[in-house]
Amino acid sequence: MKDLLLNLLLLFMVLLFFQLIVVDRLNSLFVKYQKILIFILVSVAAILCMLFSINIGGQFIFDLRLIPVLLGGLYGGPKLSLLLFILVMGVRLPFGGIGIVNTIIIMAMVTFAAFMLSKRYRKLMLAEKLIMVTSLSAVFSVISLLIPEVVLNFKIDISFMLLFFITQTIGTLMIAYTAELIIENYHLDTALMKNEKMEVVSQLAASISHEVRNPMTVTRGFLQLLKDPAIDEAKRAYYLETALEELDRAESIISDYLTFAKPHLNEMVKLSVQVEVRKAIDLITPYANHYSVEVIESLQEQLYIKGDSAKFQQCLLNLLKNGIEAMPDGGILHITSNENEKNLILQIADTGLGMTPEQLKRLGEPYFSTKEGKGTGLGMMVVYRIIESMDGTIKAESKVNKGTQFTIRLPLMT
Ligand code: ADP
Ligand code: MG
Repeated sequence: MKDLLLNLLLLFMVLLFFQLIVVDRLNSLFVKYQKILIFILVSVAAILCMLFSINIGGQFIFDLRLIPVLLGGLYGGPKLSLLLFILVMGVRLPFGGIGIVNTIIIMAMVTFAAFMLSKRYRKLMLAEKLIMVTSLSAVFSVISLLIPEVVLNFKIDISFMLLFFITQTIGTLMIAYTAELIIENYHLDTALMKNEKMEVVSQLAASISHEVRNPMTVTRGFLQLLKDPAIDEAKRAYYLETALEELDRAESIISDYLTFAKPHLNEMVKLSVQVEVRKAIDLITPYANHYSVEVIESLQEQLYIKGDSAKFQQCLLNLLKNGIEAMPDGGILHITSNENEKNLILQIADTGLGMTPEQLKRLGEPYFSTKEGKGTGLGMMVVYRIIESMDGTIKAESKVNKGTQFTIRLPLMT
């Protein structure tokens, strides 16, 4: 009994570790290497089960490895199942005993089930999934207990049989349910982040379209002037130059905006802090103008970090946008970057309303917003998430009616 419970505990621990470390903290890694990481998760779980197994008569080894292997096959598909088959055989063989026959038969059946059912399984509703895995597990439990008895003529204690059957079947149900919760949580999270971004995209749209209209008006004015045949060559060149510059500016605002608005791949690459921060500033400038906020930047060159450009943009925009919104009557938004002990120090400071210590404490809590009707209260949560996923830290200092300063620290790339 104790050994079986220990097995179950190990399975839960591996699952919990996976959720907390891999899915949450190393999210971008998870998105990229999903299959491989799931294979590792299942392998570790199965191996742990086999290490803490119950040996019966030196011939049979009972443990709950069926649970990770079955779930891995159903969620991961036939290829993963085949790999698991090889892995389990590899680990089981050195233990010896006639029970190897048992393992081969059960593993072959699990792999067969993965081949036949995994596609259909993934489309099922939660309850149907749970019924399916639990019944599969029950059937396999019975078979694995009967093979020694019937085929190999080996007596196993009936109370152990019952105990094993119950633990394995119920254990499958519990682990599958937990796995489903983790998956659902993961999807909700991704949807929430996407939603928050669309919110920012739509809020920026108004100020950006306005900002694009200005260069068009200027360009139109100069083109009008150029119609006059009497103007001299120098003036003509100047007008043309200015008109072109204005058009380029409009073009760059639109293209930055579209890059940001576009759905993106999660790709960790080397990012130039200067380039990224400038891009965010360009995008937010129309919004700042609307609030009569002056943006002042002082960015050190040649600083590189590792990250996902679109995510980092999302993070910067949320911070800049909050800073601007904290200065409804105008003010100054300072953005500085420099280096300290192989870390990037990025500071975003406003001269706005500031926050009380209570508000400061709640910063980053989902749906915490003091902007009645206008805020989503998700911006800072997303900021914290993104910085965390990049192995960085963020600190906020604030004084009411004086302003707020955010300090982001991120590991630099050489
Ligand atoms: P939202 O902007 O939609 O309200 P956020 O998560 O971006 O949601 O911010 C949460 C809250 O934190 C804001 O409503 C505001 O009260 C506070 N806050 C964030 N940044 C600043 C800042 N720079 N100055 C003052 N208050 C801020
Ligand atoms: Mg905000």
